[in-house]
Amino acid sequence: MTRGQEYVASVFEKVKAQNGHEAEFLQAVEEVFDSLIPVFDKYPKYIDENILERLVEPERIVSFRVPWVDDKGQVQVNRGFRVQFSSAIGPYKGGLRFHPSVNQSIIKFLGFEQIFKNSLTGQPIGGGKGGSNFDPKGKSDLEVMRFTQSFMTELQKYIGPDVDVPAGDIGVGGREIGYMFGQYKRLNGYENGVLTGKGLTYGGSLARTEATGYGVVYFAEQMLKARGENFAGKTAIVSGSGNVAIYAIQKLHELGAKVVACSDSSGYIYDENGINVETLKQLKEVERARIVQYIEHHPNAHFTPSSSDNNIWTVKADLAFPCATQNELNDADARALVRNGVIAVAEGANMPSTLEAIDVFHAAGVSFGPAKAANAGGVAVSALEMAQNSGRTAWTFEEVDSKLYNIMKDIYENAAAAAEEFDAPGNLVVGANIAGFLKVAEAMSAQGVI
Ligand code: NDP
Repeated sequence: MTRGQEYVASVFEKVKAQNGHEAEFLQAVEEVFDSLIPVFDKYPKYIDENILERLVEPERIVSFRVPWVDDKGQVQVNRGFRVQFSSAIGPYKGGLRFHPSVNQSIIKFLGFEQIFKNSLTGQPIGGGKGGSNFDPKGKSDLEVMRFTQSFMTELQKYIGPDVDVPAGDIGVGGREIGYMFGQYKRLNGYENGVLTGKGLTYGGSLARTEATGYGVVYFAEQMLKARGENFAGKTAIVSGSGNVAIYAIQKLHELGAKVVACSDSSGYIYDENGINVETLKQLKEVERARIVQYIEHHPNAHFTPSSSDNNIWTVKADLAFPCATQNELNDADARALVRNGVIAVAEGANMPSTLEAIDVFHAAGVSFGPAKAANAGGVAVSALEMAQNSGRTAWTFEEVDSKLYNIMKDIYENAAAAAEEFDAPGNLVVGANIAGFLKVAEAMSAQGVI
């Protein structure tokens, strides 16, 4: 065993002993740790400074009660979280997720990944994440408002434009950010840099709504270029039908691919003419409807309810973009995609592919773009929103979009170069983990034992 192998294995044992019940967190940690062994072999000073054990322990976690009153006058209670994982390279930054599955393990896995992702963007932002087990589905606007006001009444004690800047994630879009911004302002006065993903009338950035979806497609474009390919004439499947999925589909169509399937948690739609983005936006952004209603507008399309043996990954396509949620694509799904001839998979969601699925893609020579690199466009434009807020200025859509494009291209190139340097050419998982880690490790090293 090399010194790096011994060090990484011993830290992972400690992490498992202390967080054994946090399956998602351990999965995210394992993926990163495996990649970092050659870094510790090359730079033993990071072992001497015990960087890894410090990095894997969040600087701070807060968990709090969120009481609110529903439309029937009944008192409801949810649990809120914020994990402030690492401020080594800037203020904590990362989204808020409202979904019934939210617990400390999910928030910690997302916060841990965010450290590396934010570092890869080249922007000065640390890693954080938060959310609640509140389910916005089926709630009225007033219920969502009362819940978010209560949530922010507690969260505002821990955040600020130079301290910690939350944004959206699953279940948190423009409506929720608006209510939370209003409540923060009521309690602290106007500070427009305290949240990103804001509406355009009160400090939001053009192209933030589109950024994660567009970004994952810009990243995939680089992956295809490295294989001598492009989007023209390719078919694609995109899971989910939320913020990330909608704008990934829109950009794929613009660049010449045809997206034939998308989904929500109840099932998937297949439309051989290509998914109609305007219908999807109307259903999901305006009506908050279920995906099955797509076939009322496009009777040629088919809806298949979700089941264990028939999901969106059985649809034949050249490209796949998991854009829904964690662990939505397992090894059997990966094998189905490979059998159907997929050549590239880029992750719009966070940790959508299991570790076994990633192994299947690598073994089959599929180009694989991991979340922390491929979906970094959202947080990158959030950092651009922070820059516009501090500069009291607003850039055009084209300016932001072209900065986003260049950031995604740089992330690809840095990840590919790190993979090459550390003897794993073409392995963007290894490359992204190493490139993201090195900047954070150097900053931690420079700042002493804190
Ligand atoms: P949204 O809430 O806008 O959309 C989530 C979509 O995923 C919905 O269509 C939802 O369907 C679907 N979904 C959720 N769970 C499942 C499931 N088990 N099976 C199938 N579909 C499911 O969230 P976002 O689009 O913002 O986020 C999607 C992913 O992208 C998340 O992993 C998030 O962390 C990640 N991400 C988001 C960023 C952003 O800027 N928004 C930035 C970087 C990453 P349903 O309505 O039925 O629940």
